[in-house]
Amino acid sequence: MTQGTVFDIEHYAVHDGPGIRTVVFLKGCPLSCSWCCNPESQDPRPELRHTAARCRSCGGCVPACPASAVGTGPGAPRFDRTACSACDSWACVQACDAGALARVGERMTADAVMARVLADREFYANSGGGATFSGGEPLAQPEFLGELLRRCREAGVTTAVETCGHAPETVVGALEPWVDLFLYDLKAVDPERHRALTGCGNERVLSNLRALARRCPEKVTVRVPLVPGLTDDATNLDAIGRLLAELGLLRVELEPYHALGMDKYAAFGRAYTCPAGAASLAPEEARPAAERLGRHGLVCEIAGA
Ligand code: SF4
Ligand code: SF4
Repeated sequence: MTQGTVFDIEHYAVHDGPGIRTVVFLKGCPLSCSWCCNPESQDPRPELRHTAARCRSCGGCVPACPASAVGTGPGAPRFDRTACSACDSWACVQACDAGALARVGERMTADAVMARVLADREFYANSGGGATFSGGEPLAQPEFLGELLRRCREAGVTTAVETCGHAPETVVGALEPWVDLFLYDLKAVDPERHRALTGCGNERVLSNLRALARRCPEKVTVRVPLVPGLTDDATNLDAIGRLLAELGLLRVELEPYHALGMDKYAAFGRAYTCPAGAASLAPEEARPAAERLGRHGLVCEIAGA
């Protein structure tokens, strides 16, 4: 039975494709965007979350850890994430009766995921919805994703895949027939800018986008994250506009920056480094960018507007 690592399954979602949807979040992403609102999505392995607001600093988790990865600090416990082996027992989580510790990410069989997806079939039928596979980067678990997509198709459930496009072309080509909609992130056309923003070049992102534009443009909606100071300048927007016009991919969703994930970083022992900080954009602040892309013939929707 094919298995994969999942960090969340959200029911009744309405922002990740048409209609009412179940969104399955697969864990692990090859990119590392500073504005990512799901820091728990990036590492492919299960992780420990420590919610400081719930922690009573009782120290109960310290002796529980077989790897000596939990130490006492001034006030709250200190977690050495390099020493944490994500042990099978999650002993620290068991020892915490305050609910301050949790395991994020679990191995699931395709059967278990499909049971959750199919539970909401009635809602899909009535709303034109279906299943969305998101992440992290769902294409980073191609066998698991492929089985889920095939089983959705067999069950008559339509599918969407939210992707950054950084995957082998063979993977995208093999899975494309089972996908009804690609929600395809495009952050930058310039490869050096893309590398600076995400830690990766965009050769695969662009070659996969070109291939999908040739084979099935009707299946692609491009999503552009609008991050102040990083992606929202005229040079970047015009480069995106020219490319998408050339490819005939005219349907675009602009995603105004929000800082909703900012507070999660500390719970995973990480710092939030996005220079935009806490200054979320209101949807109307994305209008000038939408107009700029519109000059290239693109039809832009603004998320949340
Ligand atoms: S998950 Fe296991 S190894 Fe990691 S900190 Fe908790 S008890 Fe220690
Ligand atoms: S056991 Fe829970 S409440 Fe006590 S120090 Fe550890 S995380 Fe905090």
